[in-house]
Amino acid sequence: MFKINENYLKLPGSYLFSTIGKKVREFTEANPDKKIIRLGIGDVTLPLAPAVIDALHIAVEEMARKDTFKGYAPDLGYDFLRQTITENDYRTRGVTIATDEIFVSDGAKSDSANIQEIFDVNNKIAVCDPVYPVYVDSNVMAGRTGEYIPEIGKWTNVIYMPCTKETNFAPELPKEQPDIIYLCFPNNPTGSTITKDELQKWVDYANKVGAVIIYDAAYEAYISEENVPHTIYECEGAKTCAIEIRSFSKNAGFTGTRLGYTVVPKELKSGDVMLNSLWARRHGTKFNGAPYITQAAGAAVYSEAGKKQTMEQIAYYMKNATIIREGLLSAGYTVSGGVNAPYIWLETPKGMTSWQFFDYLLEKANVVGTPGSGFGPSGEGYFRLTAFGTYENTLEAIERIKKL
Ligand SMILES: *Cc1c(COP(=O)(O)O)cnc(C)c1O
Repeated sequence: MFKINENYLKLPGSYLFSTIGKKVREFTEANPDKKIIRLGIGDVTLPLAPAVIDALHIAVEEMARKDTFKGYAPDLGYDFLRQTITENDYRTRGVTIATDEIFVSDGAKSDSANIQEIFDVNNKIAVCDPVYPVYVDSNVMAGRTGEYIPEIGKWTNVIYMPCTKETNFAPELPKEQPDIIYLCFPNNPTGSTITKDELQKWVDYANKVGAVIIYDAAYEAYISEENVPHTIYECEGAKTCAIEIRSFSKNAGFTGTRLGYTVVPKELKSGDVMLNSLWARRHGTKFNGAPYITQAAGAAVYSEAGKKQTMEQIAYYMKNATIIREGLLSAGYTVSGGVNAPYIWLETPKGMTSWQFFDYLLEKANVVGTPGSGFGPSGEGYFRLTAFGTYENTLEAIERIKKL
């Protein structure tokens, strides 16, 4: 008789976005005349850039002709895209990454969830708290996290690294030694980032204790400050301890188009086994390649026109981020993020819990955001607003909040 993977049953329900949806629906039904503004959106809203659309059209036409039709893509990605990535995302930063260290995928969510497969089930993970939930949940499914303790919202076998006001929203080196360390900078949900010197400390630590860092750089394109690293490989020694995950979702609006990649350097080894070979094997066995059409569109992101147009989109979102950040500051809120990331992380006023502030904002300003406690216990007392709305709505939402 078959048995299920019981680890799935350990996962607590994911109530965050369904509870938000339910509360907003109930409010709208009771107050049909009120205009709700959503600043909880974790998805881009601008359409794909014209250069990307042109590339998509061309690729579709190629698929329509016998002489240019493409079947299965290479498992690990087309060379034209992998080369473009090494040149534009790495060489320009003074980092040498070989094309066979780039693994093209259908996005950073899958890669950040799947990467744990190449590690032993007894490895211990360390995560930031609050955190993007995928890192923990994928390890729960694999049976690596112990038991869930609902009272404190934590797993018994996970090392939590609180990122709060007290730590300047960056994790501190853990007291207990982890095997796998998940880091995400610029960060979702806090919008914070760390300097190159701070990241270097993590790289040195990982190399010293023999841990691997899974570095999620999905928001790299939003970095505006000088001393913030664009890739972990800017740090000395990162190639022997770090895997980097990138996405085309937030920089180029590919959330519905699906494209990402992961870098696994060949220097990264356990004994004499290269993680690069394991991930290549995993990819080749379980993935049949990102679509040609999508990879062609991805390459267009790096064209002159593509770069210019996607930078304009990011500037649009970051203008919203500035409006939110400065508006909240002038209204007396304690705010972080919004400088190198499209997320603004605020402290809830007057000792309100994250959910109390959610209700307050919905009822009094008709603005929807995301309770910080939904991202982990240390998110309690915080609240996330995002810059992915329209300029007009963002402006209006902040005016309403200022009037409270
Ligand atoms: C949005 C997001 C991703 C995901 O991206 P896809 O490439 O769309 O799967 C990964 N990590 C973080 C932290 C994100 O916020």
